[in-house]
Amino acid sequence: MKISYLLQVINNHVPFSTAESWDNVGLIIGDENAKITSILTGLDCTEAVVDEAIELGANTIICHHPLIFKGLKQINEQDGYGAIIRKIIQNNINLIVMHTNLDVYPKGVNAMLAEKIGLQNMRILNPEIINYYKVQVFIPEANSVDFKRELSKRGLAQEGDYEYCFFQTQGTGQFKPVNGANPYLGKVNEIESVAEMKLEFMISEHQQQLAIDLINQYHPYETPVYDVIHLTREANYGLGMIGQLSQSYNVADFMQHVKQHLNIPSVRYTGDEQAQIKTVAIIGGSGIGFEYLAANKGADLFITGDIKHHDALDAKIAGINLLDINHYSEYVMKEGLQSLLTNWLNEQQQYLEVNVSQINTDPFTYY
Ligand SMILES: [Zn+2]
Repeated sequence: MKISYLLQVINNHVPFSTAESWDNVGLIIGDENAKITSILTGLDCTEAVVDEAIELGANTIICHHPLIFKGLKQINEQDGYGAIIRKIIQNNINLIVMHTNLDVYPKGVNAMLAEKIGLQNMRILNPEIINYYKVQVFIPEANSVDFKRELSKRGLAQEGDYEYCFFQTQGTGQFKPVNGANPYLGKVNEIESVAEMKLEFMISEHQQQLAIDLINQYHPYETPVYDVIHLTREANYGLGMIGQLSQSYNVADFMQHVKQHLNIPSVRYTGDEQAQIKTVAIIGGSGIGFEYLAANKGADLFITGDIKHHDALDAKIAGINLLDINHYSEYVMKEGLQSLLTNWLNEQQQYLEVNVSQINTDPFTYY
């Protein structure tokens, strides 16, 4: 199987386009035409993980955190990251990153963490909002067929696997050209009635300018009449999970429960020590900023990592309970991704060995 095929399979389930704009996902290092020997999943692509892949004979590493993220200035043996990149290239290894696209995937990192903790009735904490537009254009009946064809050719008025999605109603348009008008129909200073169509169709956010350009280009009138109406809908993906535990826990018991189920050495809690915890929201990695949304949605506790002193204090003053499970707890994605990849490939009657990195890449030691 080629890397390009694997990228396609991944993209069908966890589109790279759903990553944040500041992120760096996809094939970061490698060759789309390379043939995959086997895969190694990891959280961070450290040098030890690259060595592990070489040892296993796995020429494809799929990591959560982008190896190349900030402005990279040199790729040399003396630079820590440079040395890793050189080793990857020298050993013909392909590095794929699935980062924020895996975070917002409904079965992604947050669902993996939530499942380990035992959340039930899980819902997405912060569903993405998709912007789209409805366009309505008023055009003489005689021109409507050509007009629809031109718009359709350029990819407008498409819904999933359906092209040419227009709704049309017949009506009568009226106008009186005055002053220096150069009308396509009718005479200056006379009211003209024309059999017109009102065409309605949907476009995505990035097609807005194209739609206006095409209307101006293919509408016969000097001044085309049209409306572009902004609409939104909730996507079926987004950040975080919220759900219920099978029972209510006191704080001390829940801390033990989390440490045990995530197999992590320590957690930090801030909030009401007498709280009863049943509804829990979670964002793996660095999810601070969403604790107020979690509380508004009824969470007794918001779990994330990388919580800073002032964020913790703000939450405490606001009466919000926070639990810091350390950023490294996202390591659960290594196994989670192994099972996702195996399932996606099996659905396509494809089989590849997918290994899970055994390297602990947590930069911290806990005492
Ligand atoms: Zn992370």
